[in-house]
Amino acid sequence: MPELPEVNTLVTALSRRLRGDSIIAWQRRSPKLRGPIPDSTEAGVLTDRKIVDIRRIAKSIYFDFGCSQLLKVHLGMTGYFLLTSESCPEAKHAHLMLRLASGQMLTFCDSRRFGSIEITSWPDKVVVEPFKSKLTATYLATACNSRQCSIKALIMDQHIIAGLGNIYASEALFKAGIRPDRSAGSLKPTEIKKLCSACIAVIDAAIKAGNASFGDKPEIDRGTTHFAIETCVYDQQNQICQKCQKSKIAMVRISGRSSCFCPTCQK
Ligand SMILES: [Zn+2]
Repeated sequence: MPELPEVNTLVTALSRRLRGDSIIAWQRRSPKLRGPIPDSTEAGVLTDRKIVDIRRIAKSIYFDFGCSQLLKVHLGMTGYFLLTSESCPEAKHAHLMLRLASGQMLTFCDSRRFGSIEITSWPDKVVVEPFKSKLTATYLATACNSRQCSIKALIMDQHIIAGLGNIYASEALFKAGIRPDRSAGSLKPTEIKKLCSACIAVIDAAIKAGNASFGDKPEIDRGTTHFAIETCVYDQQNQICQKCQKSKIAMVRISGRSSCFCPTCQK
């Protein structure tokens, strides 16, 4: 599943290729993904308008047309964009095809259909993202205060921190030396501080690695939305921990999701 760093890189690529272009034809290929896909009549408000910018908020992609309405796309589990010349044959699992004034075609494909396409306005409230100067230890401490839920469920709660998925939440907890199944309220102030820095560091490193692997010019394709990520604990169950070289990475289930951790390095 694309996480925040992948979405970030994709937005850079989309913005570079599409800013200044405009949608001249909105061709819906299926009526619905996670929710209904707007039809060409509803999309009339966005067609023949210049794409002013493309921005990311949490894991959502916003196409800004300089008006009150925006095109909001969420990739879900398997969503991705294709940018092709207009004569290209139709892609598999294509749900929306946008013919652009430049002569290109932007297609949204999604095999598992957990993605979404909406026409909406800017969100009223923006949830804190795991970036320096945005996520602070004070904020995290307030969120954790007396909470019984696990710390992993808390940092993955999209109403508390936007954009931290299973991979980076697992890696941040490993970096901070905290077991994922500890109750959020049991964390000491020093642990909260460490965890806050770790969340920021893992996202920052992944964004830098993503940008580096695509050079200055990331492309709009599957590769941009699915980085191969080197992880310490995520997807490493039963492997020897790289840090202590002693314990095998263990797994617990938290909120239905697998959560890997090192029983020696994480307390
Ligand atoms: Zn270890």
